Amino acid sequence: AAPILDGRAVAADLTARVAADVADLSAHGVTPGLAVVLVGEDPASQVYVRRKVTETRRVGMRSIEHRLPRETTQEALLTLVAALNADPQVHGILVQLPLPAHIDAAAVLDAIDPTKDVDGFHPVNVGRLSIGGGLIPCTPLGCMMLLDQVIDDFRGLNAVVIGKSNIVGKPVALLLLDRECTVTVTHILTRGLPEIAARADILVVAAGRPGLVRGSWIKPGAVVIDVGINRVTAADGRSRLVGDVAAEEAGHAAWLTPVPGGVGPMTIACLLSNTAAAARAGLRGEAA
Ligand code: NAD
Repeated sequence: AAPILDGRAVAADLTARVAADVADLSAHGVTPGLAVVLVGEDPASQVYVRRKVTETRRVGMRSIEHRLPRETTQEALLTLVAALNADPQVHGILVQLPLPAHIDAAAVLDAIDPTKDVDGFHPVNVGRLSIGGGLIPCTPLGCMMLLDQVIDDFRGLNAVVIGKSNIVGKPVALLLLDRECTVTVTHILTRGLPEIAARADILVVAAGRPGLVRGSWIKPGAVVIDVGINRVTAADGRSRLVGDVAAEEAGHAAWLTPVPGGVGPMTIACLLSNTAAAARAGLRGEAA
């Protein structure tokens, strides 16, 4: 099996640093506050929100939760976002996606103050990402921090990203480009994907397809980041979580992130880190 790039350990380190930062901010009279808005009862979203709230409190931040019924109107949601934008005790705002179909998610994300947009989904932060600065989306930031554990010099490395979503694939590709990697972004219509993947020194997989990446797609010595989280039913009838990489075939990789315990824990740690950074930027009276 490939050596494990342990997201739980790296996330624990980052979380401890955030907790120290929160203590310092609190000593200066600013307790970072994260507002989480959940509309409806999507079971996966409820799990994510519960986890985020627990971790927020654990590092000493204030957690402000708004659980709204499924029937909430877009207008009511926009009113809430405006109130959170104006609230000086709120430094980060997270609207849990997906939103019910009758709400225009883009309009809601657009309404969040970009300096409080700790998910990094606001168009201003998306734009800043491509020219440097701004709040960086949590999962891509977590991927980069994991890569930083095992790669000193990214310059000139071949990086292949599988998946081009706005929340993972595209931002990861931009961050890798920023490090002077040669980046190839691939997706479901890419031709010859196994050969393209096999040229990667860094392979980031975010497709949401269990076992998509086979052993032959992985260059010996590659660093493989498996972002996928897929619930599958095993032969014994039990359900479990697996990534997008056939981990049992990846023994020749230099490093592989496990699922669970890889990118997932980093995502939450980065959310806390973004919130502390937003609070610190507020303390300095500047945009995050
Ligand atoms: P998405 O569905 O928005 O995008 C998937 C992308 O993968 C698309 O660009 C699509 O073209 C590509 N793709 C799909 N099938 C493919 C195939 N067979 N070959 C090549 N490309 C293919 O998904 P997303 O939101 O980016 O999430 C991707 C995966 O990452 C999911 O499993 C999701 O659960 C997981 N995820 C994990 C975290 C985390 O914290 N670890 C965060 C976000 C998403």
